[in-house]
Amino acid sequence: MNTITPVLGDITQQNVDAIVNAANNAMRGGGGVDGAIHRAGGPAILRDCIARFPHGLETGDAGWTTAGELQARWVIHTVGPNYAAGQRDRALLLRCYRRCLEVADELGAHSIAFPLISAGVYGWPREDAIAVAIEAITGTPTHLDEVRLVAFSRDTHDAVLQQLSG
Ligand code: ADP
Repeated sequence: MNTITPVLGDITQQNVDAIVNAANNAMRGGGGVDGAIHRAGGPAILRDCIARFPHGLETGDAGWTTAGELQARWVIHTVGPNYAAGQRDRALLLRCYRRCLEVADELGAHSIAFPLISAGVYGWPREDAIAVAIEAITGTPTHLDEVRLVAFSRDTHDAVLQQLSG
């Protein structure tokens, strides 16, 4: 069973084997954490997205690319449900985390860092987005040694700490 290491910071700066990107179905870059990862990792990530995902990615699924110039070896891209657009199926959000962990396991990664999938532009209510992340990460068996949950703001990090202790 995975334990969660809560981190306050920028996911692009994490020194782990794989970082997770909250991407969109097209898989051609975007805003938020997606934009930050493509900017920091350089054009190799987009090239690999185009090569490996010619038709993009389904909501709830995950797949990997190079991490380009990032410290990580891989970016694992997943597409969270767009709550703001009416996609409110919790099982889909759970599946994003599970699929990412499966892909990381298949790659032989020892460590992974997650952002809070769907909790930004896609509008998933923060407390529940955190609850889903914790439920999925702790409930999925893997060989990973370290699973980080990276919050981008102090507020969000505090909310993660509170749920982990409660
Ligand atoms: P989504 O479209 O899935 O909602 P976003 O990128 O808009 O994805 O936001 C997902 C979460 O990632 C939000 O909590 C946002 O604050 C956070 N985030 C944005 N940039 C970064 C970053 N560089 N590192 C870590 N988390 C980030």
